[in-house]
Amino acid sequence: MKEKEHIYLSSPHMSDEGYEKKYIEEAFDTNWIAPLGKNVTQFEEEVTAKIGAGKAVALSAGTAAIHMALKSIGITQGDVVFCQSLTFSATANPIVYEKAEPVFIDSECDTWNMSPEALEAAFEKYVKMDRKPKAVIIVHLYGICAKIDEIAEICARYQVPLIEDAAESLGSTYKGRYTGTFGDYGIISFNGNKIITTSGGGMLLVNTEDAEERAKKVLYWATQAREPAPWYQHTEIGYNYRMSNIVAGIGRGQLKVLDERVEKKRYIQEYYQTHLGDLPGIHFMPAPQGTHCNCWLSVIQLDEDCRVKPMDIMKALEDDDVESRPVWKPMHLQPVFSDFDFISLAGDLCIVDHETGADNSISGQIFEHGVCMPSDSKMTEEDLQRICGTIRALWEQTSSENSER
Ligand SMILES: *Cc1c(COP(=O)(O)O)cnc(C)c1O
Repeated sequence: MKEKEHIYLSSPHMSDEGYEKKYIEEAFDTNWIAPLGKNVTQFEEEVTAKIGAGKAVALSAGTAAIHMALKSIGITQGDVVFCQSLTFSATANPIVYEKAEPVFIDSECDTWNMSPEALEAAFEKYVKMDRKPKAVIIVHLYGICAKIDEIAEICARYQVPLIEDAAESLGSTYKGRYTGTFGDYGIISFNGNKIITTSGGGMLLVNTEDAEERAKKVLYWATQAREPAPWYQHTEIGYNYRMSNIVAGIGRGQLKVLDERVEKKRYIQEYYQTHLGDLPGIHFMPAPQGTHCNCWLSVIQLDEDCRVKPMDIMKALEDDDVESRPVWKPMHLQPVFSDFDFISLAGDLCIVDHETGADNSISGQIFEHGVCMPSDSKMTEEDLQRICGTIRALWEQTSSENSER
């Protein structure tokens, strides 16, 4: 019998047509094996044309794009930056690269993303302290859109720039417009596990009125801050953050299949909802009205008193050679960020799980009760059946254990 195949959480998925190879070959044939060349500039143009962003700068990673957005805003030592707590650490790390101070903001149940009410409370607190933040970073976690209108309104009222971390949400739309195009800055990631990948890479989208100028400055920092002189002349500290022409070739090919990938990821999410939705205590990721989620990862939530625990699901899938993962552990619960403030409307915060360190904040609870289900776009019907079978068996098992008692 054929061995059961390993199922990934989300792995690179190149086009059937081989578009990516074609662009790479072009780069080889013309010897543009550098962080310079046609693929890079074309990739930037194709992304902005596809999603309707201002100016794009292709970079070596999504993390580099966040760093460049902060530098472009002028974030410096001692500045306050409001940042969604429920995210991957790459959203927050660049704040610390610039010696600024992240203040973490709790999520809301509607979108799992930054709570506009908690953001408003954070502004009130920090303005009173005469420490108005210099930027706000929101995330569209797992492709679910944050409440962009509400958050953008608050930022506009306080005249603070908004950065949209759309690393996980390329292809998601909010009221018919793509994420990454609403904030003053948007960032995308093409890391290996994202909905489309270049093997590793990212992009900064600048959507301000003076986007051209700002993008030019980012390009300068990202290419070692070289001055236009015959010799190597520097007046600022630079970075080696530019995307290579080979990598950009993969991206150009992948962009052609983005819609297909979104469709498949949404199919996977719907499959779980249809085939597991009747299990007592299981819930699925929110789908806020007026938004279209790319469903990068399908995420479930289990009720507090559900017989089956997130760890049971992850363990059972692992035993069957299937990869799943906990929900991101919020930044305010990470030891590395323990010195920083956290704004939540959840009332008195206390640790409710001493093993995971989860607290009773909204983000802490989403972390505590969530599981990222296998969401690989290469999965077949059989794979999905196998996964749902494994999970249903857990409920059957626990219900027979209960009836034996
Ligand atoms: C992946 C990711 C990033 C970082 O992107 P890289 O390209 O891996 O540097 C940033 N934020 C979020 C939310 C991510 O998921």
